[in-house]
This record gives sequence, C-alpha cells and structure tokens, in this order.
Amino acid sequence: MESSKKMDPSGSLQTNPPLKLHPDRSAGASVFVPEQGGYKERFVKSVEDKYKCEKCRLVLCNPKQTECGHRFCDSCMAAVLSSTSPKCTACQESIIKDKVFKDNCCKREILALQIYCRNESRGCAEQLTLGHLLVHLKNDCQFEELPCVRADCKERVLRKDLRDHVDKACKYREATCSHCKSQVPMITLQKHEDTDCPCVVVSCPHQCRVQTLLRSELSAHLSECVNAPSTCSFKRYGCVFQGTNQQMKAHEASSAVQHVDLLKEWSSSLEKKVSLLQNESVEKNKSIQSLHNQICSFEIEIERQKEMLRNNESKILHLQVRGLGPRGGSSRTVPKGGPVSCQVPTLGRPGRRD
Ligand SMILES: [Zn+2]
Ligand SMILES: [Zn+2]
Ligand SMILES: [Zn+2]
Ligand SMILES: [Zn+2]
Ligand SMILES: [Zn+2]
Ligand SMILES: [Zn+2]
Ligand SMILES: [Zn+2]
Repeated sequence: MESSKKMDPSGSLQTNPPLKLHPDRSAGASVFVPEQGGYKERFVKSVEDKYKCEKCRLVLCNPKQTECGHRFCDSCMAAVLSSTSPKCTACQESIIKDKVFKDNCCKREILALQIYCRNESRGCAEQLTLGHLLVHLKNDCQFEELPCVRADCKERVLRKDLRDHVDKACKYREATCSHCKSQVPMITLQKHEDTDCPCVVVSCPHQCRVQTLLRSELSAHLSECVNAPSTCSFKRYGCVFQGTNQQMKAHEASSAVQHVDLLKEWSSSLEKKVSLLQNESVEKNKSIQSLHNQICSFEIEIERQKEMLRNNESKILHLQVRGLGPRGGSSRTVPKGGPVSCQVPTLGRPGRRD
C-alpha cells in the first residue's frame, strides 16, 4: 500500500531555524548552591580540613564561623541553631546566635578551588573553579542533560546531541505528508495517512469497481455507489423493497404498476380520513349554533326583566307622590307590604307574572 512507503529523510523533512544553544552568560551567572549541607563535587586536589563543615563534613557552602572559631555551612548552622541549647559539634561550646558571622574570606577561597565537572562520568573532561560550575553547566557543558525544545517531546538529551535530536531524531519534528504535502509532526504522520489525509487513495467499503477514489471524495461517492444500500422512494406509501443502489434502479423501473397501486391505496385511505374529519366538523358547527341560540334567548329575557323593574319603580314613585298630596295627612306613609307589592321574578323562572 502506498501509505506505508518510507520517505526520503533529507528531502521531505523540514529544517528548523537555528537553536539558541548558548544563551547570554550574564543572564544566569550565579554560584551553584546544594539544597542542604556542603559541596559533594570531586575536587582536583584534596581539600584542607579548614574548608570542611563541622557538621556535614563536606566542603563548606556559604560558610558561617562561630565564636569558638569553627566553621559550618549556612544550612548546617541553621539546623544547629534550631535546637534549644545550640552547641558547637567540634568543641561542645555553646553557640550564641548573635556572635555567628558570615566568613566571606573563606567562601572566596573555597569558590576558587579547582573541581572536575559533575558531568565527568558522562564524558566531560573539564576542570574549573567551584565558583564557575553553575555557569559551565548552564551554558557550556556539552554533557549536561537538557529537555528537548519541543514542549510535547519529553526526551532529555545531552547538549552536544540536542541539535541532531531536534533536526533528525525528535519524534515531534515536522514532516511533510507525501500525499497532501501538509506539515504534520513525525509521530502522527502514520495516523495522518491512515485516517485523516484527504489525498490518500482509499477503497470503497462496498467493494464496488471504483479504484481511484481519494479519501476526500469518499462521502460523495457513497451516496451514489452502485453497491451502497438504499431504500425505495415509495417506502412511505408502503413499499418494503430494500437493496443496493443498482438493484433499486431496476426495482423502480420494473415496479411502476405496483407503486401506482400503493399510491391508490394510500389516496383512498386519505379520502376516508378527510370525510371523517368533515363529519366531525359538521357536528361541531351544529352544537355551536345551538349554544348561540341559547345565549340569544337569555339576552331577550334579561331585557324583559329590566323593563318590568322600571315599571314597578315608576308605580312606587306615583304612590309616594299621592301620599304626600293636599288630601292626605302629612303623617300618612305607605304601609309596609301595602296594596302594591313589587315582585321581581328570578332569571331562572321566566314564566312567572305579577
Ligand atoms: Zn555542612
Ligand atoms: Zn567550636
Ligand atoms: Zn562539563
Ligand atoms: Zn524532541
Ligand atoms: Zn496528507
Ligand atoms: Zn463504491
Ligand atoms: Zn418500491
């Protein structure tokens, strides 16, 4: 298969811009300090005892001197002073914190001592002063282990091999796809060719005769592939035929009569449904009309009752006026429940009269 073809490494690989393998020396220039205690470096000449810590017995780091004249690393002194009654580990004299001082003279002498590079075992033959160690490791030592410049690559390589690693060995270096010419990380090239690359020739999953099919053309092809499964366009009218695109063409050509029959059945069942709906609609219209008639008769009755009320009111007014006239005494009043009673029939019983 073409996708597994090996690429010509010199031709297809992208060359990266030059790496900055020697950063500015002044930027990180400082003295190497171990996390705890003194220096464990291999010194060229044996170190005098006066340069060794009275606690950890290593070569002093940031030396401090006590009143009794003994020297300790800065971190070792801090550990001694943290006890309740600090004593010098060399002479057992009590240590007074305020009398302890930084021994800068001693520090200068120690930093000037010659050491072998700590990457000696990896092959660095360099001899240098202790004070220069950090600068050497950060900028110069060809045997210092460094992380690859590509964030995704977790490999660590010696400084002398970094250039080669980045250009030729790193799994994350850019590679050119031989099919689509796009740039992809080396490590994903195979996956790109196998699943993503639009320019790789693929075969139709339905085993049709088309041979020169690119991945980018596959989905368009599948909708018209002679071997792709298909359903009859008369399925919604009841046709249950299933087959490939090719078989479907033959089916549609030969089943015209059957399809027309299906359409007839479908349309007659549709007609039945329509007439059912029409009947329902007529019934509903009837009941609406009868409700309307009821409302009208109620309205007429209400008007009649209002008219009756107005008549009764005017009769009462007339009687009151007669009672207050010149023949009648001013003391006469209309008796309660008198000769004219006014009765208002209730709405629910329209037949009642005075
Ligand atoms: Zn120490
Ligand atoms: Zn002492
Ligand atoms: Zn070195
Ligand atoms: Zn790498
Ligand atoms: Zn590609
Ligand atoms: Zn096909
Ligand atoms: Zn059909």
